[in-house]
Amino acid sequence: MARAPASPQTLTLTVNGQDLQVLLSEHARARRISLRVDQIQGCVVLVKPRRTSKATALAFAQEKASWISDRLSELLPPVPFSDGIAVPILGSMHTICWQPDARRGVWREPDTLNVSGSVDHMSCRVHDWFKQEARKIISPVAHAYAEKLDKAVTALSFRDTRSRWGSCTIDGKLSFSWRLLMAPASVLNYVVAHEVSHLCELNHSARFWNTVDSLVEDRHTPTAWLKEHGSQLHRYGLAPWGSQA
Ligand SMILES: [Zn+2]
Repeated sequence: MARAPASPQTLTLTVNGQDLQVLLSEHARARRISLRVDQIQGCVVLVKPRRTSKATALAFAQEKASWISDRLSELLPPVPFSDGIAVPILGSMHTICWQPDARRGVWREPDTLNVSGSVDHMSCRVHDWFKQEARKIISPVAHAYAEKLDKAVTALSFRDTRSRWGSCTIDGKLSFSWRLLMAPASVLNYVVAHEVSHLCELNHSARFWNTVDSLVEDRHTPTAWLKEHGSQLHRYGLAPWGSQA
């Protein structure tokens, strides 16, 4: 019978007189002890297999204390979708402007993203807008690239994925993070070209990269951009740390 996972607990490491907090999480299927950064909760999570003792896990974390300390200092706080906050759309910053008296839903202007209605629904509305707008922008790009390769996109979905920007199945189903809409157009186009190229090659062989190169002029600059800035896109629209239920 499946057992509910044990609830995570906080451990404190002391490094050079500084206290570092890590969340301890036990996973039945974990094979080894590992550490990962959780942007949503603003912490480092120490994952241990069920059989590993807490003391062993703690010793592991203590050994990696400087890595943990560096990651914690790099963590950027969440940026909620609220009035006056600036969010990137296709690489340029737009200030969210609450327009309580308008009846227009959410609409974009050169420097603003205007949101009408109740302030309580603002975050939800902006999330929905990003998802819809991502589809509106990405869908024609995906279909145009697929047509160039003489392939067909059978379905497109938009999610809030953490570990990847896009994915592709053998039967032509593409999935993207709606957060790509925050990135510059060249980055968005590259990710779409990458996934569409998987309709031809379900691997990362030289032939695959040649296919990508036939769709976009430069894939190196967008790849470097994602490596440097990609994780920051996950800060937007999140509740402040510590406010999760
Ligand atoms: Zn790939």
